[in-house]
Amino acid sequence: MITLRDITVWDTGETIDLTIPEGVMPDGEYDAAGMTLAPGFADPHVHFRDPGQTYKESMVSGCAAAASGGYTDVLIMPNTVPAMDGETLDDPDAPGAREVLDAGCTDVIDYLQHYEAVHKVDLPVRYDLCVCASKGRAGHEATELDHWRRHMPGQDDAAKDRYQLAHPVTAISDDGSAVTPGILDDVFAMTHESGLYLIEHCEHHDTGAVNDGPVSRKLGVPGIPEDTELRIVERDIAKARETGVHVHFQHVSTAISFDAIRRAKAEGLPITCETAPHYLALCDEALLKYGTLAKMNPPLRSEADRRATIEAIADGTVDMLATDHAPHTLEEKERGFLEAPNGIIGLECAYGVCHTVLVDGGFIPDKRLIELMSVAPMRLMGHEPTDISALLGGRKPETGTVANRVLDLGAIDPTAAAGVGLAVLNTNEAWTVDPERFHSKARNTPFGGWSVTGRPLATIIGPKLVFSRIGR
Ligand SMILES: [Zn+2]
Ligand SMILES: [Zn+2]
Repeated sequence: MITLRDITVWDTGETIDLTIPEGVMPDGEYDAAGMTLAPGFADPHVHFRDPGQTYKESMVSGCAAAASGGYTDVLIMPNTVPAMDGETLDDPDAPGAREVLDAGCTDVIDYLQHYEAVHKVDLPVRYDLCVCASKGRAGHEATELDHWRRHMPGQDDAAKDRYQLAHPVTAISDDGSAVTPGILDDVFAMTHESGLYLIEHCEHHDTGAVNDGPVSRKLGVPGIPEDTELRIVERDIAKARETGVHVHFQHVSTAISFDAIRRAKAEGLPITCETAPHYLALCDEALLKYGTLAKMNPPLRSEADRRATIEAIADGTVDMLATDHAPHTLEEKERGFLEAPNGIIGLECAYGVCHTVLVDGGFIPDKRLIELMSVAPMRLMGHEPTDISALLGGRKPETGTVANRVLDLGAIDPTAAAGVGLAVLNTNEAWTVDPERFHSKARNTPFGGWSVTGRPLATIIGPKLVFSRIGR
């Protein structure tokens, strides 16, 4: 049994003792005074490159990275190889198909749902799946709802095994590209019929490598104008108005897009959005310092856009933070601005970077950051974040005992215990980001060497401690 004494509950400020029946640190009592107990972080936007590109990341390394970053839940984007489009794989020679077929699985959804059984591993975090908007994520034809509908929550659950129940398809996206104009109506109709939500990557350009502006000119690299994002945001807001489909905009990066989203929300449309740590911490000038480690899609924008991103977080236009954890090898990232792949990893430093910029910067309080990283993304993904006070039996009475209440995860109702996802945070700990110590296979981050404050110390899923750096 592991007991964390005198830990503070994130929303009520109550000091409690937390008892965890088993986990990755020696049994005993630990002084957790000054530490914060919060619902685990949830990331609605990760790329684990499995199947197909496991030299970059895998389900095993990606989930380990998530656990070490305080995440209990992630949503896996569908740009795997083959793409996660629900189609049965019949050509074993198609890129990546052999891995799935050799595992005895029929398609990528089937493979990822049964990953733990196939590979005989225990993954430390929970994950849901996001299916492609188009077949092969090629943008030519919408995916067939009838080919993957059965993987949605509540669809013939009695016929599902425990792996299928644990890893449902909960969203639709062609992340990496926006839904193409030719299939837009079909995708919205299919999304509407499914009752799920559409996650949109807002970019329509196919040229340019970095933000269009003084920095792109200085580098001599073709630029990506800011309205590439706005045009998709406006297009999809109009479709949301027309169809009632919930559209969630990924990694929004420009002031003009935030303005459009702000207006759509004021109108009461079913629109939500996320941004990522890099858009609030960096602007395109970072390209001069970090080179392709600062290359992503959408690109890092101007300093004015960075400030507008923070403002949109502070005023509630941004619903949540997502990492867009996008692993690549350093060899790939060293190919120069035109050739290097887009994206950076984020799971293991997101909290520190966001805490430093947003909370230390005085823009939002600690509690709001936890809402943005835990509560809002969990709800988007269709789950309730762990309610610590409810597990304690309600709010602490104003009068009465002065002793700490105890949350014993081994003693609560097993169904409630199974749903638990918690993070232990030190909101004040100063530390230096060291990518060499990441659990991810990848090292592609511009944040290496950054001094940040705010650190995830432990991650608890179900009644089990799955990650801890307490006392280390
Ligand atoms: Zn994207
Ligand atoms: Zn992405």
